[in-house]
This record gives sequence, C-alpha cells and structure tokens, in this order.
Amino acid sequence: RLWNFSAGPAALPAEVLEQVQDEMLDWQGAGCGVMEMSHRGKEFTSIAQRAEADLRELMGIPANYKVLFLQGGATQQFAQVPLNLLAGVKDKQPADYIVTGSWSKKAFKETLRVCGETAARCIASTEDKAAVADGFTRLPASAELQVNADAAYLHLCTNETIHGVELLDEAAFLASVPAGVPVVADMSSHILSRPMDVSRYGLIYAGAQKNIGPSGLTLVIVREDLLGKAPASLPTVLDYAVMAENDSMLNTPPTFAIYVAGLVFQWLKRIGGINEMARINAEKARLLYAAIDGSDGFYRNPVDPACRSQMNVPFTLRDAALDAEFLAGAKEAGLLALKGHKSVGGMRASIYNAMPLDGVRALVAYMDAFAKSRA
Ligand code: PLP
Repeated sequence: RLWNFSAGPAALPAEVLEQVQDEMLDWQGAGCGVMEMSHRGKEFTSIAQRAEADLRELMGIPANYKVLFLQGGATQQFAQVPLNLLAGVKDKQPADYIVTGSWSKKAFKETLRVCGETAARCIASTEDKAAVADGFTRLPASAELQVNADAAYLHLCTNETIHGVELLDEAAFLASVPAGVPVVADMSSHILSRPMDVSRYGLIYAGAQKNIGPSGLTLVIVREDLLGKAPASLPTVLDYAVMAENDSMLNTPPTFAIYVAGLVFQWLKRIGGINEMARINAEKARLLYAAIDGSDGFYRNPVDPACRSQMNVPFTLRDAALDAEFLAGAKEAGLLALKGHKSVGGMRASIYNAMPLDGVRALVAYMDAFAKSRA
C-alpha cells in the first residue's frame, strides 16, 4: 500500500481492512456479511456490544458514562450538544467556548445559531486576525482562561485538525475550570491516540473517520447526570437520553461502520492498547517535527512547540513556488494527501493511529532528499 497522510477520512490499519475483506460475504459463518445483517439480530448485537466493551476497556470509561454510536458527524454534535445541554434548561447560564481553530470556531457559531446569540460566550480566542492565512498557532495561556463558575459547560476542541494545535497536558489546562462546570470536548482527530482521563469530561464527541473507523459513525461519551435535560420539542433522534435508553438503536445505526470500528478497537488491544499506541505516536511526531526543525528553515511549522499536534502536522516550504513540485514528487514516492487545508495552505501530514512508523520514516526521507536537491 501507499502511505496515506489524509486528514480524514483517514487510512485504516491494513490488518483491519484485510479482515473486513475476508468477512465481507460471510461474517463468521452467519451466511451473509455485516452490511446485510439485521441490526436487531443476535450477530450484530454481539458485534455492537463487543465494540462498546472494548472501547470502554481501552479508554477506561467509567461506569457512570454512556457510550453512544450515532450518525451526523462531529458537525451535528456542534448543534446537538447545546440542544441537549442548554436549550431545555430554564434560566440556564450561557456555555463558555474556547476558540483555538476552525473547528471550535464552528462549534461556537453553531451554538449561537441553534440556541440564540446569548446562549454561549467565547471566553478565549487565539485567532491572530493579522495573520495572512487563518492564524491559530497556540492555546490560551492560563491567565487568559477565565471560565465562568456558573457556565452551563465549557466547550473546547482538544486537537484542531487544520491548524495542528493539540491540548497535550489536559490536567494542567483544565485545572482552572471551576468544579461543577462540565467540560465538553471535540476529540475527533486525536481520540484513542494516547491516554485521556475521561472522568475529567462531561461529554466527549468524535467523528469516527480519523482514529476510529469509517465515516458515518459518530461517537459520544456522556456522563449520565447530563442526560435528560433536552426540551420536549427536540427531535427524538437528537435526544441523547433516548438514544442511551435504546442502546443507540432507536433507529437503524451505521452497522458497517460500527463493525469496522470494533475491529479497530480489537487491533488496538492486540498491539498493546492505548499506552503502546501513545508511544508509537510520540515517536512518529518526534521524527517529523525533528525533520522540519532540522531543515535550516527549508520547512517550517508555525505552532507553539507546547501544543504541536501529534496527529496533524502542518508545514510550509520556505519557497511556496516549490509546493506543486514537492507534492508531485511525494506522490511519485508513494506519499499521498500531503496538501494542506485550503484555509492555511502549505502542507499537512496527518499521522493518525493507522500510520505506521515506517510511513513517517518514508516521508521524512523524502522531505530530506527534496530539501537537499533544492539547496
Ligand atoms: N471537529 C474536528 C476536530 C474535525 O477534525 C472535523 C472534521 O474533520 C470535524 C469536527 C467535523 O467532522 P464531521 O465531518 O464528522 O462532521
């Protein structure tokens, strides 16, 4: 296979894809593949239950949290979170939002759209409006972070996929959040990449298509006391409490995506769980940032080193006129999808869980050779 650095949908582990291929027409003697099975039959029920149990084990999800397998993507969660946690509560204080990149900015705007202009406050933004491209290169310092003690919740995106800004030390960062304010996190692009303390959050959500499995599945992990606050007018399918009561099967769930996600969880357990995944991811990120920083300015990553993402690594070439040549050569070398997001330009290498160390080694070797050839 070629090395796919796409930000999402991202590559899946080769082993998982092979297993899917083997079971496509006949899942473990069932006589049909998972795509063709009833979601209420015993085979699929066992697949969904195992997927949830494995995820709980991998992430250490406490018993007082529900795991929901939903649809609609993380974008739907931008609306579904405030509709569930904010819209139905009388005299509710606004929610606090931290804006650290395009995704948290979208989440904030969507909250104002669905719940009204006073439903949320942006308490900190790191947007550098003077920057040429979309300028998000850091997290707010603790002095900039004044979370209101009566906030309905605090929302943040713990890994900004486009800008490559990641919250690496959640304990220190969240230390100043007043007790009683639930923290809601969009973890779409780094969930399962390293240990995270689920008990520190009220709600975690993630689109599946980076570290979990195929697109079409959205994971929500929610503390039970946050359920049941939605207004009666909320469409049933958007109500977390109803989904939880029905084991995410109020209606037909994204069965095939849940099945593949389950295989990814089994793969993670086989390789040694989240701690081993974190070790590999740290090494991949170390190699790539070292190649950028050691290039004498040929490549550049603009992000504050304290919050450089271990999953999404944006970088620019000193001479943007070489971008097209860099990308064409990369493709020839079997390195795909390195073009940066249109809002920031340059390059971006997404090195999610499924990207092996060898893929990053191949990228670094190519970058090094390209820089030398243009020196
Ligand atoms: N949040 C983050 C951090 C993302 O990276 C993305 C997509 O790439 C989204 C939200 C939007 O996700 P979706 O396309 O599943 O709606």
